[in-house]
Amino acid sequence: MNKHILIVHAHPEPASLNGALKDAMHAHLLAQGHSVEVSDLYAMGWKAAVDAADFPQRDASARLRVPKDSHAAFAADALTADVRAEQDKLRRADALILQFPLWWYSMPAILKGWFDRVYSYGFGYGVGEHSERHWGDRYGEGTLAGKRALVSVTAGGWQPHYSPRGINGPIDDLLFPINHGLLHYPGFDVLPPYVVYRSDRVDAGQFAQARDGLLRRLDGLWSDAPIAYRRQNGGDYAVPSLELKPGREAGGERGFGLHVAPAA
Ligand code: FAD
Repeated sequence: MNKHILIVHAHPEPASLNGALKDAMHAHLLAQGHSVEVSDLYAMGWKAAVDAADFPQRDASARLRVPKDSHAAFAADALTADVRAEQDKLRRADALILQFPLWWYSMPAILKGWFDRVYSYGFGYGVGEHSERHWGDRYGEGTLAGKRALVSVTAGGWQPHYSPRGINGPIDDLLFPINHGLLHYPGFDVLPPYVVYRSDRVDAGQFAQARDGLLRRLDGLWSDAPIAYRRQNGGDYAVPSLELKPGREAGGERGFGLHVAPAA
């Protein structure tokens, strides 16, 4: 079945490795009969920093309070046109793909700023009941539930440097704030990331290998098993502490891995 995919791309150079991977994904998805939108953040001149200009209808004499002003603007459909356009792209999409280079163990600032602004109160967070017993529809529920997400990232470091004992820290831990905190949070089913290591030294043969590996992952976009992140409201967490209930951990007693359910 044909699907609609949003690629959000963060690299300042169109002829970069990241640009080439983004173009290859775009062409591959179109060739399969899917429809694709691309948000090329540098090319769009995306404004990354949240500030008062994001809420044009706010009372300019009052102190800026980002969650409150964001909520009011979202409820009044008064967010800026650039943010509303990205929210509409997310609503239309069956899957979101992020393509970016690892910069200082995270995403480039322009992409972080895309989330800061597009995930307004009422859209990315602040969804559903908020009470002493319920902390909203998040972590597996929310505006983007039912959609899939894939992070495709290039890293200069070697793969073993990102292994469980590697000096940079395990790649799944480094990407946890993105995969769990930004993607699972508003409801996405998050696929295991696709990572190209030693990306600064990629020759033509290695590029073809990296590109083909990514395209194979696209072929599994609808069939691959997502990371088994636990749902906030699925019974694994105690209320009101939202700590994992005793006895449910798969191995260690702490760390990001606690929030992934053990294989059945
Ligand atoms: P490019 O520089 O565009 O290309 C990389 C190589 O791919 C080049 O040799 C190019 O010739 C080759 N290539 C082969 N075929 C093609 C093709 N068809 N199209 C384009 N290029 C091709 N790394 C880490 O591991 N951890 C970090 O925390 C980290 N922090 C960083 C912070 C900053 C600010 C910067 C600038 C880099 C950092 N790096 C880090 C390295 C970074 O992750 C890599 O530089 C990046 O992933 C390389 O991707 P690129 O698209 O910029 O590559």
